[in-house]
Amino acid sequence: MENFERIAILTSGGDAPGMNAAIRAVVRAGIKNKLEVYGVRRGYDGLINDDMIKLDSAAVSNIIQTGGTFLKTARSPEFLKKEGRARAYDSLKKHQVDGLIVIGGDGSFAGASLLSREQNFPVIGIPGTIDNDLYGTDYTIGFDTALNNVMTAVDKIRDTASSHNRIFFVEVMGREAGFIALRSGIACGAEAILIPEVDGQLDKLMDLMEKRVSQKRSSIIMVAEGEREGNIFDMAKMVEKKFKDQDVRVSILGHMQRGGSPTAFDRVTASRLGVAAVDALLNDQRSIMVGIANNEITHVPLNKTIKLNKSINKGLLEIVDILI
Ligand code: ADP
Repeated sequence: MENFERIAILTSGGDAPGMNAAIRAVVRAGIKNKLEVYGVRRGYDGLINDDMIKLDSAAVSNIIQTGGTFLKTARSPEFLKKEGRARAYDSLKKHQVDGLIVIGGDGSFAGASLLSREQNFPVIGIPGTIDNDLYGTDYTIGFDTALNNVMTAVDKIRDTASSHNRIFFVEVMGREAGFIALRSGIACGAEAILIPEVDGQLDKLMDLMEKRVSQKRSSIIMVAEGEREGNIFDMAKMVEKKFKDQDVRVSILGHMQRGGSPTAFDRVTASRLGVAAVDALLNDQRSIMVGIANNEITHVPLNKTIKLNKSINKGLLEIVDILI
């Protein structure tokens, strides 16, 4: 085991509920292991500009229940350059930091992997993104809260949809992936779920709408923001054109999906991953992500998390067809 005395933690890229729970876990696990823990503000930008503070146990009190990240996060164009990453390393050396923990998504991990390789420095990633689109882990911090946010919103939309027999197209986040749409669609009992991982969904959708409209039944159609078969407004127009007397509405859920108090699942997952990240550093791991597979902690090389794509859960896809 290397002689670790000081570690640092930062949050990078998109914010996700549960990041605070992970920071808290890293700080408390670090202190338990007699380490000093520094918190870097505003992600890689803060690292480049030497914006870090020492965190004691009290500094992370009362944050497990809050969304966002109290260390703040940022997108850092400077860190994309080798010189920027060298400046970030200078800050780490200045404070005699022996290892860095980065909470973020695949972009943040790409940067973490380069920093680790170029400076031969230990960096551990914790998966934090509402999109759940990271290879090597079943769950990312924030995904469960986002699902619950979507579910609460769509339950409300359904009240008005069913009262008026309307068709509602609801767009949810997820970048190029359909993880949020698929799982929240099942949770909300959506009549159709359109995700980028599945082709040829439009014909099927039109057949289904034909049936629902003739039965005078409302419909919720969940659409992932990265859906490749068309823009949500164009799809709604297409349905409206075919069924002239039918009310069709579009609702873009937007940023409310990533806010609010994290769910119990996200808090527990974040706490487990935070402790696992400190353990990994102390066990001489470098350039890996701590993840969760089959409810066990796993270590996955950062390089793999960047290069490989996570596949959509086929079992869930199969039950969608049965339930609709
Ligand atoms: P996320 O981590 O949520 O995927 P981004 O893709 O915006 O978010 O990445 C966050 C930050 O990570 C970027 O602003 C940049 O500083 C750094 N980063 C992203 N991609 C790279 C890369 N290929 N090389 C170096 N740094 C990167």
